[in-house]
Amino acid sequence: MAYDQNNIFAKILRGEIPCDKVYEDEWALAFNDINPQAPIHTLVIPKGEYVSWDDFSAMATPDEVLGFIRAIGNVAQKLGLNEDGYRLLANIGANGGQEVPHLHAHIFGGAPLGPMLARGHIDKIDT
Ligand code: AMP
Repeated sequence: MAYDQNNIFAKILRGEIPCDKVYEDEWALAFNDINPQAPIHTLVIPKGEYVSWDDFSAMATPDEVLGFIRAIGNVAQKLGLNEDGYRLLANIGANGGQEVPHLHAHIFGGAPLGPMLARGHIDKIDT
């Protein structure tokens, strides 16, 4: 899938639309989700043009990978989530429910988050 320069997170990175910024460094930007699903719901995005974990893991330079991973840890620390814990999530593609085609990690925290996946939404799982 080709990278869409007009996706909403690309516009945020270019400063064309605002965001509620939490953290920024050379490699990543973090901002609060516009439609939070937990008391703390922050998105971390790499500054490079990657659609999802697929192309990021295959194509990103070692510095970009390290920078993104470190940034996620730095954001969690800045949000004060380390002691009580939190959840990291990346949706990838159609089955993952990815809506914005720029790689992003969701950080959820601030309360116990319940089961890993919502129950009752999967009709059939082949095992
Ligand atoms: P995903 O389904 O993993 O692609 O998640 C996309 C997330 O981006 C959703 O949780 C949206 O609420 C969030 N989102 C969409 N537009 C914005 C925006 N302008 N600022 C912050 N979060 C956004």
